[in-house]
Amino acid sequence: MDLGLAGRRALVTGAGKGIGRSTVLALQAAGAHVVAVSRTREDLDSLVRECPGVEPVCVDLADWEATEKALSNVGPVDLLVNNAAVALLQPFLEVTKEACDMSFSVNFRAVIQVSQIVAKGMIARGVPGAIVNVSSQASQRALTNHTVYCSTKGALDMLTKMMALELGPHKIRVNAVNPTVVMTPMGRANWSDPHKAKVMLDRIPLGKFAGKLGRSPDLVLAWVRVGVGVGARGGVGNVVDTILFLLSNRSSMTTGSALPVDGGFLAT
Ligand code: NAP
Repeated sequence: MDLGLAGRRALVTGAGKGIGRSTVLALQAAGAHVVAVSRTREDLDSLVRECPGVEPVCVDLADWEATEKALSNVGPVDLLVNNAAVALLQPFLEVTKEACDMSFSVNFRAVIQVSQIVAKGMIARGVPGAIVNVSSQASQRALTNHTVYCSTKGALDMLTKMMALELGPHKIRVNAVNPTVVMTPMGRANWSDPHKAKVMLDRIPLGKFAGKLGRSPDLVLAWVRVGVGVGARGGVGNVVDTILFLLSNRSSMTTGSALPVDGGFLAT
C-alpha cells in the first residue's frame, strides 16, 4: 500500500535504537527524507552508514537549552515522531527526584518542546502535518514498579489530545501509538526475566509481544530465556507500521487518538 510519504520531510526522536531507529529506516524506504535525533553519537554514525541521506542531530532531549539550539535550524518538517523515552523502574516508595525529573523531561517535556518547534514551522509555512507520540499500554494500566513511567505515558496520552485540539485548526493531526512490550534495548532491559514476561504475556489475549510475525508464547519465552530479542531486527514492525499509518493521509480523519498495538492487553 502506498502511504504517500515520498518527498515528505520527517523528524524522529530517539532514532539511535529500537523503535525510533526502525521508524527512520521505514520512513526512508517509503521515500521520506529523515532527520534523526538521538543522544548517543555512535548510534547516529552507524545509522547514517546504514541509511545514507539521513540527517543526524545529536542532542540530549532532557536539556531544554541544548535542544532549542540543536533544532533551531532544523528546516521544514512535515511529519514528526516523538519517540525518545526512558523507562526507569522503581517501587513507588523508592521513587527518586532524579528519576521523576529525568523521565518527565524526556518522555513528556521534550515532546512539548520539539512539537512546538515543528508545529510553529508548519503553521508558518501554511502546510498540513502529522505528529505521532509514542506512548505505551503503560499509559492506561498500573504496572508494578512503573510509577514514573506509567505517569509520563498517561500524561503523554492527554498531551496528545490537547495537541490535537489546538493544532487541528492548523490542519496538524496528532495521535499516539500505545505498544505492548517490544524487545528493543528498553524492552530487553525490563522484560527479559522469563517469569515477569510470562505474567505480562498471560494478560495479552494474543499471547505475544509486539513483533512482526505471529509467535507462540512458548517461543517468545524460550527466546527471552536465552537472551534473544523477539525479532531483534524488524521485530518492531507492528509498531512501525502503525506509526507510518498515523503519519500518512490514510488516517486523514484520525486525530487525538491513542491507538493500541498491544495484542488486546488494554481490552482486558
Ligand atoms: P530504546 O530501545 O531504549 O531506544 C530509545 C531511544 O531513545 C534510544 O536511541 C535513546 O538514545 C533515545 N533517547 C532516550 N533518551 C534520550 C534523550 N534524553 N535524548 C535523546 N535521545 C534519547 O527504547 P524503545 O523500546 O525503542 O522505545 C521507544 C519508544 O517506545 C519509547 O517512547 C518507549 O516508551 C515506547 N515503548 C516501548 C516499549 C518496549 O517494550 N520497548 C513498549 C511500549 C512503548 P540513548 O540510548 O543514546 O539514550
